[in-house]
Order: sequence, then structure tokens, then C-alpha cells
Amino acid sequence: MRFDVITLFPELFGPFTEAGVARRAFESGQIVLRLWNPRDWAEGNYRRVDDRPFGGGPGMVMMAEPLARCLQAIRMDRADGPGETAPVVLFSPIGERLNHAAVERWAAGEGAILVCGRYEGIDQRFIDAHVDAQVSLGDFVLSGGEIAALALLDAVARLQPGVLHDEGSHQADSFNPAVDGLLDCPHYTRPEEWAGRRVPAALLSGHHAQIERWRREQRLLLTARQRPELIAAARAAGLISQLDDAVLARAAADGPP
Ligand code: SAH
Repeated sequence: MRFDVITLFPELFGPFTEAGVARRAFESGQIVLRLWNPRDWAEGNYRRVDDRPFGGGPGMVMMAEPLARCLQAIRMDRADGPGETAPVVLFSPIGERLNHAAVERWAAGEGAILVCGRYEGIDQRFIDAHVDAQVSLGDFVLSGGEIAALALLDAVARLQPGVLHDEGSHQADSFNPAVDGLLDCPHYTRPEEWAGRRVPAALLSGHHAQIERWRREQRLLLTARQRPELIAAARAAGLISQLDDAVLARAAADGPP
């Protein structure tokens, strides 16, 4: 898949796409990443990409024209055939909030053209003319879309085959609907005792079934406490067993820990 990113700060992308496990998806070519700076398509000696907002008020707004020319150059470079034009996605607090289901869709797709805003945002006419979808990272305001773009790219990268050392590893991660959509259980590593705290006995038992049972219980209890709506969704999908219900009922009777 190929992602083209329109950003005034392309240098922010290297540190994240050249480090850690996500790096493999970019090095292997599973994800082709191209960075485009709208400043390269801006006019005049100052290569201006922003201007003051009509109607007054604070801050600056990214101009439509450099973005449109940059987008046109990307379309030429991609040489997308008819009917296979890549979607243009703008990162914005007004967009649909990114979640696991959306990341899975992106991970299975052909890529996209990602637009990172800066300043107060970008001229609405560019959005009306060219943007197919808007994506938000959450209900807060970033100073630019780059962190949101990197969040999407990183989450998509780790779902590519062979990127995580252990293929089973994201099976057990939080939010995986292919398993149960619940939160992940706590993890422990050596030593067995640290600062007076011991690793839960079940994990040291060596009994596979007992370990799995402990992990399942932890996922259930943690999710019931932190994100009860995910339990409801798993139940609706038929992924909560009678044994699971017994665990949840016992915890509910005991009250909060
Ligand atoms: N005036 C805008 C915020 C602009 S912040 C508002 O209040 O809604 C500048 C840029 O950062 C935005 O254009 C967008 O690309 C990016 N950005 C800010 N918050 C974001 C979020 N929660 N999710 C995704 N992108 C965000």
C-alpha cells in the first residue's frame, strides 16, 4: 500500500518510520511512504503557504492553492488509473475518531493521501473540493496533523504480516475483534519479585490452561472496570462464555477492588 503525506514538516516522519518494529513495514516496502511539502508548490520568494483568516481573528490559515498543486503532483506521481484514485484524508479534530476497526480497514486497504493541517487549519474550499474523509485522534487539539498521521501509520504498520516478531502478538492486544475486542491483560517479566511485589502465581505455574484462564479473567475484569461497553459489545457478538459470566458476576458481587 502507498501513503502520501502532505506536511509542512516532513522531517518529523523519519524518527518514527526508521525506528522500532514499525520500521520493518517501511523497509520491506509493505508500506510505501512519500512525503510532500506544500511549500515546494507555493509561489513567490517567500513560498508562502498560509495567510490571515478572512473575518479576522487570531492565527493563520493554510492556503488552498499550494495544497491543491501539491495534491495534483501526487496524483500524477501515483498515476492512479480511472476508478482507483486514492482517498484524500484530512486530520482534524472534527473528524471521525480513529479506532481499531478503522485502523484494520486502513491496514487492509491500498493506502491514501494524508493531509496534515497546521496553524488554525486549512482553507475550507480545499476541504470541500478535495477531501474525502476527516480523521481525528481524539477530543483534544494538536498543533498539527503530523502526530495523527504518524499514529495512523504506526498502527497500520504493526498490523502488516511479519512486522511483529511474534505473529500471535497482536492477536492478544487490546481491541482485537477477531479475539474478543477486550482490553489486554497485565504483563510481567523477570525478576519474579521486584520491590516487594510478586508476579501472580498463576503465571509461574507452568500450566498452560491455568495461565490462559488467569489471562482471560484479567481481561474480563479490567475491561468491565475500565470500558464496560466493550464487554457489552463482546456479549452481543457471542464472545462471552458462561465461565466468563461467572467471573464477571463474582467480581460484581465483590464490589470494586
Ligand atoms: N482550529 C482547529 C484546530 C487547528 S490545529 C480547531 O479548533 O478545530 C492545526 C491542525 O492540527 C489541524 O488542521 C489538524 O490537521 C491537526 N489536528 C489538531 N487536532 C487534531 C486532532 N485531535 N486529530 C487530528 N488532527 C488534529
